[in-house]
Order: sequence, then C-alpha cells, then structure tokens
Amino acid sequence: MVKKYNSVILLISLIIGLIHGIITISFNVFLSWLLIGIWLILTIKIIKNTKRYREFNSPHNTAFFVVLPIFIAIFYTIWSNFTGLLVENLLADSSLYLSWWSLVFGLPYAIYGSFSLHSCFRKYDVVYLGTKSVNGKRFGYIMVFLILFCIIFYWIVFYVADDIFEDFLSPINFSVDLILLLMFISTIFIMIIYGFLANRRSLPELTRAYITRRANRVDQITRPQPVRRSTRQRERVHTIERTRTPGPTRIDTRISRSTSRSLRTSPNRQTQTIRASTKATTQTSSGKTKKTSKTRPTSTRIINLNKYKPKTTALSSEDFKCIFCFQLPNFPQDQGRGIILCPNCRYPAHADEFKDWLGSSNLCSRCSARIPTNYGRNPRIISVKNYILIYKDFLRKKR
Ligand SMILES: [Zn+2]
Ligand SMILES: [Zn+2]
Repeated sequence: MVKKYNSVILLISLIIGLIHGIITISFNVFLSWLLIGIWLILTIKIIKNTKRYREFNSPHNTAFFVVLPIFIAIFYTIWSNFTGLLVENLLADSSLYLSWWSLVFGLPYAIYGSFSLHSCFRKYDVVYLGTKSVNGKRFGYIMVFLILFCIIFYWIVFYVADDIFEDFLSPINFSVDLILLLMFISTIFIMIIYGFLANRRSLPELTRAYITRRANRVDQITRPQPVRRSTRQRERVHTIERTRTPGPTRIDTRISRSTSRSLRTSPNRQTQTIRASTKATTQTSSGKTKKTSKTRPTSTRIINLNKYKPKTTALSSEDFKCIFCFQLPNFPQDQGRGIILCPNCRYPAHADEFKDWLGSSNLCSRCSARIPTNYGRNPRIISVKNYILIYKDFLRKKR
C-alpha cells in the first residue's frame, strides 16, 4: 500500500519533471521535480513513523529520527544552489541567498534536525542504531562532526573546485544559502552549550534546602485537604526561627516539627501544637526568647547524656576514668582509641582494652555484670573527644 503510493508520487514527479525540463531545456528543473517527489515520500514516511511512535509513546531516540531529518535539511538547502524551481532570492541585494526552495524543503527539517540533535545531548541516554545503542551524548558529537563535515566539504567543493559542476550541472545561484549557514552556526552552538558547557542531568545536590523542599512537596501530595492552612503556618514558623537564631534553636525546631508531624492524624492536638509554635515565634520577635530557646536544647541534652552517666550517687572525676588503666580519657594522647561503656554500670573503658578484656571474660571488670555477647561483638563506641565533652558537662553541672 505504502510502496504503491510512493511509486505513484515518484512517477508523477518524474513526468512533471520531464515535461517541465524539456520545455525549459534545463536538467536542473527536471532533477528538482524529482527531488520534490522524493521529499514528499520521505515526509510521509516520517509522519507515519511519528504517529506509530506516539501510539506506543516511545521516545524518538532512533537513528531514523535523529539522522534523517538533519541530512534531508542539508541536502535540500544545498540543492537550493541548483534548483530550477523557486529560485527567486528573497534577500535580493544581500550576499546571502534565501529561496522559497530552502524555506519550504529545508527549513522544517533544519528545525526538526536541530531539535533532535539537542535531544541527543539533553534528553536521550542512548540512541538506537538498529539493535545497537550508542550513548546519547557521544552520538550527538558524532552527528555534529558529520553535519559540520558535510557542510564544510560542500562549501569547499562548491567555491574552490566549482568547475566540477559545470560539465553536467550548472549552479543557479552562487551565494551562500542562509538556512545552510544558520544550520552550521546552530549546530556549533548546540554542541558548545549542551555538549561542552552543560553537565547533563546531574542529580540535584542534596542540600538542606532541597530536602525541605522535597519534604514539603511530598507533604502537599499526601496531606488531606483541610489541614493545608495550618501547615503553611507551621512552615512559616520554621523559616522565621531558622533565619533568626542559628545554632541551638535548630534542634528545637526539628523537634517541634517531628512532633507535629506524628500528630497529624488528630486535628485537635495539631492545632494545639501549632498554637504553641506560633506563640514561640511571637516570643522570638519580641526578643524574650533567649530564655526559652536556651533552656529547651539543654533539657534535650540532659536526656541524651543520662545514657552516659555512670551509675553512682555522687559523681566525681574518678567515675570517668577508664576501668582498666585508671586514666581519665584525654584528647591528643588517646586519639583514635574510642571509649566503650559497660551497658550495666556505664563506667568507661578504652575500646581496645575493653575488647582485650572480653577475650578472657564476659563480665564487667567493675560491676561484674554479664556483658551480652552481641554487645561485646558490636559495642557502641564513643569517640574520645565526645566523651571528654560529656564528662566535662557532668562535672560542670555537679558544681
Ligand atoms: Zn584505659
Ligand atoms: Zn559494669
């Protein structure tokens, strides 16, 4: 069916070309008609393929869509120097040449082809050549090379060795075709901008701002409608607090967010937390917050630090000495050693000494409690630096 159409088109263009060519006694006219026929056949084929691809919703990353259009454009704009039809130069007095021929037969494909080339660099991971696949960007560079090579080769042949043509084909116009020139320039531009300068589809950097943006976005999608207003309020609270007081308050805001999040399902309590947080902001703006923002993080720190507090009634610096070597952990000397606490009495030991001890016994050398085997294999190691901070904090509070 398709082949029948094609041969009919070809035959018609052949007949018209012959008649017109004989009348004007011009081989160029004959060939031009033939080329119009071929152009029609190619265009029909491309439209058919596009339709078929759209049906399957597949991307146009095949050689057919990437290679064919741009070379049709190159060929037909080159032919504008030879065409016997539509020869009038629309830029009459300029040294460039723009004919209806290249506007009709060249320009659409020049745009299409440039767009495909752009897609090679920006969109396609791979381009399929039959069953083989080539990296999209690499294929783009190959295409750029081929396009530039073809155009430059043509210009050299046409302007330097122009006597080749005179025997069988005489050029109608010697000016440089505008569309061909534009294609040449745009190809170079596409290569530079989307090839050399762009780092393609790099994954977004995981900055704090990006994460909050994504989290908010997910929230918006998953959140039931009526809660919307209140969460916007909550967001505002965050930003105000964050910009106003960097540092310790950040912990504070994070806590408030997580609590309000977990309570999202119960609207009553949520409004409560929101009211509380807005209260906090008003305080921030009035300047009274120094007290509130200071007390809260320290309280959370106490909760955390109690896990490291040795079990004894009266703390002294003796309680923070290693249970094996009786030395207080010290920073530059003990660098890289690590501290392990007994899970029962929470007295510290240098990690290396603790592990050596476990080789001969599974009881704490201080409180004689059994140390669970999985804790012995995978103990929680605290860096010496952090442990110093912890015990200094305890000793400071004791005073
Ligand atoms: Zn020690
Ligand atoms: Zn112990």
